[in-house]
Amino acid sequence: MKTLAGLLVVTALAQAQSAPSSRRMDELNWMEFRELVPARVETVLLPTGTLESHGVVNNGADITAPVDIAAGMATKLNALIAPVIPYGVTGSLDGYAGTFAISEAAYRAYVGDVLDGLARQGFRNIIVVNGHGGPQTAILNSLAEAASRKHRVRILVTNWWAVCSEITLKTFGEDGGHAGWNETAMIQAIDPKLVKQERYSDALAQPRAAEGSWAAFPFPSSIILYQPGQGYVKFDQAKADAYRKAVIERMTTLAIETIEKWNRAGLYERR
Ligand SMILES: [Zn+2]
Repeated sequence: MKTLAGLLVVTALAQAQSAPSSRRMDELNWMEFRELVPARVETVLLPTGTLESHGVVNNGADITAPVDIAAGMATKLNALIAPVIPYGVTGSLDGYAGTFAISEAAYRAYVGDVLDGLARQGFRNIIVVNGHGGPQTAILNSLAEAASRKHRVRILVTNWWAVCSEITLKTFGEDGGHAGWNETAMIQAIDPKLVKQERYSDALAQPRAAEGSWAAFPFPSSIILYQPGQGYVKFDQAKADAYRKAVIERMTTLAIETIEKWNRAGLYERR
């Protein structure tokens, strides 16, 4: 016969095993968080971006994309999502209106402290979903290496557009670019209102310089094509939607495979 106390225990256990009330760290209560991490959730996704001119999409495209990708990855990874770090280290586009560049020293100190904090909270796997390249990628890599060694946590830094370069070729039949067809499509799929199609012309785009050939500061275009003649924006909603779906799947697979390999190698077993 079930006692009241027994029923309460059963109810509490059922509650503890149910899905988190939110995957977002900023929406969880501290008591919920304590129940989840690390007992039930070992992984956190950290989106990082910057504010930077992006052709005919929003200056926050490098925030919009990784926040959306992290949201799409979280359930399959059984992960929480840390609040995005919106300001970043912008490179040669920092002269454009509305673009911000945080100094490398300030960024290193701030993001390093965020990684330390996530490790101290008990997460075992930190997946950085980075939305902005240039100097920021190398900085994130070195911060991840240092925090991993210091805290014995496993950290994967991902640059979604590079992870998904084959998906770009497959979806659009050509390579993309910074604010090129691929990145513009990602934003179009997330929120078409963020795309100012009427402002677009191919003349806004510029192939990037061949290695060592020339450099311009500020760079003369915010649409920077990876290959000459490829990546000019065509606004195809169906292709954009397919691209977003494939990007989230590829990013999820990369994270799952990496965690499985870490586990198989016995890296940083709980002590
Ligand atoms: Zn971007």
